[in-house]
Amino acid sequence: MRVLTAVFTALVLALAAPVPAHAAGRPPLPGRVVKGFDPPAERWGAGHRGVDFGSAPGMVVRAPAAGVVSFAGTIAGKGVVVVTHGNLRSTFEPVRPTVEVGASVRAGSAIGVLLPGHPCPAPACLHWGLKRGDEYLDPLTLLSGAQVRLLPRDAAGTARTRAGVRAVKAAAETAEQVIDLLPAGRAKRLLKPVAAKVTSVFGRRFHPIFHEWRLHAGVDLSASCGTPIRAADDGVVQHMGYDASGGWRLVIGHAPRGASSFVTQYLHAQGYGVREGQRVKRGQAVGWVGTTGWSTGCHLHFGVKLNGRPTDPARFW
Ligand SMILES: [Zn+2]
Ligand SMILES: [Zn+2]
Repeated sequence: MRVLTAVFTALVLALAAPVPAHAAGRPPLPGRVVKGFDPPAERWGAGHRGVDFGSAPGMVVRAPAAGVVSFAGTIAGKGVVVVTHGNLRSTFEPVRPTVEVGASVRAGSAIGVLLPGHPCPAPACLHWGLKRGDEYLDPLTLLSGAQVRLLPRDAAGTARTRAGVRAVKAAAETAEQVIDLLPAGRAKRLLKPVAAKVTSVFGRRFHPIFHEWRLHAGVDLSASCGTPIRAADDGVVQHMGYDASGGWRLVIGHAPRGASSFVTQYLHAQGYGVREGQRVKRGQAVGWVGTTGWSTGCHLHFGVKLNGRPTDPARFW
């Protein structure tokens, strides 16, 4: 809750910070562009949704225009900094952030340090993406300053962000209340379904595909595709199926532990070896880690719902 409060405070500061009226574009690095903007024809198609600057690890990355830092952290294992310039958002990766969310930056302010890892023909490349709403733009237009007009405020984006923050606060508060209702000692610990590091925690995050703030209603456990997924506790398979966002998805219902319902959810799997209605044992292999649905790499998204409300799985480990 303390983390959520801090993040929320930072966000409020970001929303309240003044937004510049005009871009004064400058390249984020002294390197040259080694890969240009090549957006996909289809929204989910292959393509290059930004430009790559060839450089070297450790080079300072600078804001190309004035704005507010709206994200500084890790997405799917990659360091990312996002600077919001009015109605536009610049995304930089892979970068070790040297700024905090909510910081106001000028054109040329240092925002991070370049890390290796982006595929390109140089020792390290900075990938710079530019978005207006859901639309990808050529970041180099920001440098020309000619074709991109910055609105003072993206009202729709701000409303979406505020709604996301409200959803996270509501989920967090509900989780606190429900967990408080559990009799002492009844909140039995869950088994981690994959013995792996949590690469994305429960709570508000900058969505790696939608590039906006959303509630992340579970934790991501990063593991190779094909790694067995184990049932977090004894239960009954309530649902097994495919959908566009969660990919292959499994829901297991468990003994309610004093709440009215307690289920665990498993998303993005390659597949599952169990059927609806089947009883499963704690620790039983029920499927295999995959990257189906809206996913940027092999991982298990693991969620817990208490009385129908998303709850942080980490509360049960
Ligand atoms: Zn790139
Ligand atoms: Zn997830």
